Amino acid sequence: MNVVRSNAEMGAHRLLATGTVGLVPTMGAFHAGHHALMRAARERCDTVVVSLFVNPAQFDEAADLDAYPRDEERDAAEAAELGVDILYAPSVDEIYPPGFSTSVRVDGLSDVLEGAERGPGHFAGVCTVVTKLLHVVAPDVAYFGQKDAQQVAVLRRMVRDLDVPVELAIIPTVREPDGLALSSRNVHLDPGERRRALSLSRALRAAEEAIAGGERDAAAVATAARAVMNGVDPEYLALVDPDSFEPITTVDGRVLVAVAARIGATRLIDNTIVHTAATPGGAPTT
Ligand code: AMP
Repeated sequence: MNVVRSNAEMGAHRLLATGTVGLVPTMGAFHAGHHALMRAARERCDTVVVSLFVNPAQFDEAADLDAYPRDEERDAAEAAELGVDILYAPSVDEIYPPGFSTSVRVDGLSDVLEGAERGPGHFAGVCTVVTKLLHVVAPDVAYFGQKDAQQVAVLRRMVRDLDVPVELAIIPTVREPDGLALSSRNVHLDPGERRRALSLSRALRAAEEAIAGGERDAAAVATAARAVMNGVDPEYLALVDPDSFEPITTVDGRVLVAVAARIGATRLIDNTIVHTAATPGGAPTT
């Protein structure tokens, strides 16, 4: 596996690559969720590039950025083990050279749920860095996790709006056996917090069960979900359209249930997409 630090070097490797090129953008501290993205890329692509860049622009809290787990040596060993061809790990200066002043913003979609909690800069930071990575690596396919459902919706919109010549491949959320979604931030949870963290996936299961049991009122589904969070007060627990992130009032067709909560000092997010047979003619979804 080649470890590449500069955009120029990455570009030189890209010129030599033949066949399908897959890019897996990450912020490192790999876990089985990242591995699943890398495996999917390895299965399909001739050349697999994993980017490792802890993007300061998408952090809304300096303390969160400082505390973000970093272990490039271990990450590199795991990526090599999974057959990754290139680990592209640029410095902050390489991505944001002095004078950098451009931002890519997806209006509307970026302003609700995660955008509202983390501030308007969060998704602009994500879109700007992903745009740069897509330009430098020029992949045919870029891999993202459904775990970050709003990121997926924002990036899909950006790629569509700007005619970015890339296919987005979305990989299902990888979970611990007890349901906790894997996250680099889980390492910060002490044993008590680790137990309380289960309230997020438990709430999502409760929402799924309520819908499977015939509940179609979104507020009632949300109430059923909150009821099993055992005292954890979510920052949001919302039923929205998975593409527009508009709130829904009636469950009909595809619905995203998204939740975010602070467990101690650690902020966690999770989501599930529920499919119901769409009512002919559609139900009101305002
Ligand atoms: P991160 O390093 O946290 O920015 O994540 C890099 C990529 O891995 C993003 O596309 C995430 O959505 C994805 N990812 C993170 N956690 C999971 C998970 N538990 N299952 C699947 N994909 C994940």
